[in-house]
Amino acid sequence: MTDISQEQRMILSTVRKIAREVIKPRAAEIDESQEFPWDIVKVFTENGILTPLLPEKYGGIGASYLLFSKIIEEISKVCASSALILIAQADGMLPILYGESEALKEKYLPGLTKGKLAAFAATEPGAGSDILSMRTRTGQKDVYVINGQKCFITNGSVADVISLYAYTDPDKGAKGISAFVVEKGSTGLKYGRDENKMGMRGSINSELFFEDLTVPAENRIGEEGEGIGNLMATLNTSRLFAAAQAVGLAQGAINEAVEYAKKRVQFGQPISKIQAIQFMMADMVASMESARLLTYQAARYIDEKKYSLIPKFCAMAKFTASDLAMKVTTDAVQVMGGYGYMKDYPVERMMRDAKLIQIYTGTNQIMRLVTAREIFKE
Ligand SMILES: Cc1cc2nc3c(=O)[nH]c(=O)nc-3n(C[C@H](O)[C@H](O)[C@H](O)COP(=O)(O)OP(=O)(O)OC[C@H]3O[C@@H](n4cnc5c(N)ncnc54)[C@H](O)[C@@H]3O)c2cc1C
Repeated sequence: MTDISQEQRMILSTVRKIAREVIKPRAAEIDESQEFPWDIVKVFTENGILTPLLPEKYGGIGASYLLFSKIIEEISKVCASSALILIAQADGMLPILYGESEALKEKYLPGLTKGKLAAFAATEPGAGSDILSMRTRTGQKDVYVINGQKCFITNGSVADVISLYAYTDPDKGAKGISAFVVEKGSTGLKYGRDENKMGMRGSINSELFFEDLTVPAENRIGEEGEGIGNLMATLNTSRLFAAAQAVGLAQGAINEAVEYAKKRVQFGQPISKIQAIQFMMADMVASMESARLLTYQAARYIDEKKYSLIPKFCAMAKFTASDLAMKVTTDAVQVMGGYGYMKDYPVERMMRDAKLIQIYTGTNQIMRLVTAREIFKE
């Protein structure tokens, strides 16, 4: 393990202990019940890792992006849904941190280390990959009156603070989007359904409706029209987090498959002695390790503020790691045969969880578009 200090190593060791002793035993139940795991939020809060990227002046631990990626990875090894709580928290927090307003930072950021939750709201039913087609719009200026809706928002209905994107001036296209901080309980903020999902069932994904939602002008993040830059900066980092989640998930499935293969006896020997299984495992581990290196490199580029490299490396890490996680978790089920398909073992859950990472925070098709655009720009 390189690039991290002794103190950060201790943080990771605590995270590993929490993952092993508290989260792992809860993972199957969280998936089965599809109930938001408030107990896990409490554990994250008590151990100071609910919002680790936050600088110390706002109550965080000032984690580097590399350290945060490793924290996500450790938790994803046992429960990707629980890791998604930390990712959604970071996605909702970063738009405020990246913004210019010190008043907004002081008002909203410290609470996010003490158990308050955040969400990032950009996607709409008609605006997914094509995010500029969002229809959420504001009216007058001194108090913004926002109308529209968002969908699939992670932490949506449980978030105390929502970073929301809306058009303040639709005629200006991308330069007409602005970002706002919206508090739970604001007049005109309505909740639709929480989705029933294939995987990541411990995370909440909500419809949000804005019916003359009133937001004070001081809750605008940055200037009018600066929302798109804020949104893209947040999405880049979110892609890194998704990559780290995929690497952890793949490693978790590999751990399960290795243990099983050593114990499962067929034809008078453990199946780990069968070359077909060995080759499958070799491919699984090699591809996971490559994705891990790419993910750490993307994290380092963010830490080093190498802005020109961040979009490409975060996109590459995201699609490489999540495609690999899908394949590795599917192969882990294969290694474990019929038992792998049963809910008695975690690999079928991991396979369902992996699918989301190919889709959310920009689909893997869009990640390839971003990567190609950067390649031909160079
Ligand atoms: C569980 C979950 C959690 C989420 N959390 C959040 C959140 O917290 N906040 C938030 O704002 N959003 C969130 N999202 C939204 C997510 O980012 C979008 O679902 C994603 O960007 C894809 O948009 P879409 O679902 O509308 O698919 P579409 O954009 O309709 O895409 C459908 C298919 O067409 C392909 N496609 C579309 N356009 C192109 C193109 N130009 N070239 C090639 N292929 C293309 C896509 O790759 C995909 O395969 C979440 C989604 C899910 C499922």
